Amino acid sequence: MSAPAVEISVDPGTGVWSTDGLPMLYVPRHFLMGLLRTTYEALGASLAEQRLYAAGYDAAFRWCGMEAAHLGLAGMDVFHFYMKRLSQRGWGLFDGAGIDPETGTGVVTLRHSAFVADAGVGAGGKRCGFCAGWAPGALMWVGHTQGRAWNLTGYESRCAAEGHAACELVVTQTGGTAGNMAATSMAK
Ligand SMILES: [Zn+2]
Repeated sequence: MSAPAVEISVDPGTGVWSTDGLPMLYVPRHFLMGLLRTTYEALGASLAEQRLYAAGYDAAFRWCGMEAAHLGLAGMDVFHFYMKRLSQRGWGLFDGAGIDPETGTGVVTLRHSAFVADAGVGAGGKRCGFCAGWAPGALMWVGHTQGRAWNLTGYESRCAAEGHAACELVVTQTGGTAGNMAATSMAK
């Protein structure tokens, strides 16, 4: 075991934690997973996935804008820094090397997913839909800042919980308007 690779600051007056200038919450994994299970049960799998995907997509888009400004990064460097920070914060090990910087599409590989760890390896099913919107949301921010007409969406094509060596999160072009709508709303 080793110490966290992210720097955590704590405001002595308020107790608020922050990393890279962003307020953070440090919660037990079982708490978050229980919250997600409750959400799935309340909304049904289809609606829950749709809403959680959108929330993750928007949060990634916002994260990239705030961190680019805070750290002075631009373009695909922001995306890869996002993948690095996710990996350093315990979600699993994200590798965005399979994304084409010219199109924003490709495959993000996820090893040691927190969602698979919670479900148990061999549990079956695709377990990482909650994070399927993160890469396309971040890449839409990249495309937005570069003036590219990307319209990206994402899904988990294979999951380690099904017995694969790693999870694969696909980012692809969509003919729909969801991506553009999110990018437009978040750019305001
Ligand atoms: Zn998975």
